[in-house]
Amino acid sequence: MTTDSHCIFCKIVAGAIPSRKVYEDDDIFAFHDIHPWAPVHFLLIPKAHIASMAQIGPGHDALLGRMMALAPKLALQEGCRPYPEGGFRIVCNTGAEGGQEVQHLHLHVMGGPRPWLKG
Ligand code: AMP
Ligand code: ZN
Repeated sequence: MTTDSHCIFCKIVAGAIPSRKVYEDDDIFAFHDIHPWAPVHFLLIPKAHIASMAQIGPGHDALLGRMMALAPKLALQEGCRPYPEGGFRIVCNTGAEGGQEVQHLHLHVMGGPRPWLKG
């Protein structure tokens, strides 16, 4: 698996930096955001180092599909109320103008009662 020894999220996957884990399987890891914008706010990432959505190719279809399909299940598990009263927001910042700060692909999954800090 591709990893980047300087990448903070690769270090989280490896356990070298602690995180509050939400989910883990062979290919995917999820953990609570350290600066939550919403009552529920976790990040869903591939274990492999992929810098952003801009690096996604045809070989990543299954991985992205699995990540998107996991998001609603984990959102409910983490306390988001069901659709339609509840729900959640999925955000994937990409590149400098997309507001991406950590260069390891991640989906923000946010939910819970409003108001939120941001978004
Ligand atoms: P982005 O701007 O989309 O790249 O978002 C990066 C997110 O990673 C921000 O919401 C940060 O709060 C979060 N973050 C950065 N470092 C950590 C960490 N060590 N553990 C959990 N979340 C982190
Ligand atoms: Zn990485």
